[in-house]
Amino acid sequence: MACAECIYPWGDARRYNSYSRHTREMFGVRVQKVAVSAGLTCPNRDGRVGTGGCTFCLNDAFTPAYADATKSITAQIDDGVAFHARRAAADTRHFAYFQSFSNSYAPIGHLRALYDEAADHPAISGLVISTRPDCVSEEWLDLLDDYRRRGLYVAVEYGVESVHNQTLRLVNRGHDFECARRAIALTAERGIPVGAHLILGLPGESREMMVASAEVINSLPITSLKLHQLQIFAGTPMGNHYREHPEAFHLLALDDYIELLVDIVRRLRQDIVIERLASEVPPRYRINEGWGIAGHDRLIQLFEERLSHLCAHQGDLLNPKTTDTDE
Ligand code: SF4
Repeated sequence: MACAECIYPWGDARRYNSYSRHTREMFGVRVQKVAVSAGLTCPNRDGRVGTGGCTFCLNDAFTPAYADATKSITAQIDDGVAFHARRAAADTRHFAYFQSFSNSYAPIGHLRALYDEAADHPAISGLVISTRPDCVSEEWLDLLDDYRRRGLYVAVEYGVESVHNQTLRLVNRGHDFECARRAIALTAERGIPVGAHLILGLPGESREMMVASAEVINSLPITSLKLHQLQIFAGTPMGNHYREHPEAFHLLALDDYIELLVDIVRRLRQDIVIERLASEVPPRYRINEGWGIAGHDRLIQLFEERLSHLCAHQGDLLNPKTTDTDE
């Protein structure tokens, strides 16, 4: 059934609250994130929490070539801006996106130097810092507040990955979901926008568990959400397990993933900005079959077509009892 075109509560006719709309509303123009690699590590690799890392993790797979930690932050931003300029309008603004590993996991003076270099780049209007939820301190949040006082947009993205502790244990995450809940609350209390990242399709998670994640996510004071399908990378513990026991994995077909996304997004709070619905890394990194959606656009199109077919939109199946974000 076709629907009459509506304007949804987030202010446009798209059936979900998109990050592109959100950032355009803030700045009046398109915003592009430019990845930078700070050359840091994470406590699940250097021994503080663990040494093997999360079983699914391969940072190289999703780090663009221009974000090369052997270059300075300035050079990475120069190259990233030039890379994206091919399809960006001249007035596009940029956020420096500290993406790989845990970008709050270093002495505060070192972090300040890294963030300063990005903040001082003339193309940069904001900092987006990706990290683990167990790498948060008041001192680090104070540092982020310094940039906000300078007029820079600052946001934090936490790898939550799953809201289910049994899954987090299975993938050797090294922290539980309560850790993520605390980090998100501490950060949001400062007025800093918080993004959460979830992987859909992790071993041991049923479809019902993944759909139920929406209700838990609704209870967090987050601003934005990224969803990714599980991809299995060569050379990781999960990749080794997959080669030996492929029957232990139930990887989603594209159609099933779209249906899952629809079921989750229809249960999400309408103020949660959806930044990503999937991604596909280059085949050289992946063991599992891909979907041929290297650009995100094709998947978004399929997702929006499915919502339209169902006459559905973000939050239309929201359970209002699950939206209380008070701790
Ligand atoms: S996913 Fe993040 S926390 Fe886990 S091993 Fe990789 S860098 Fe470390």
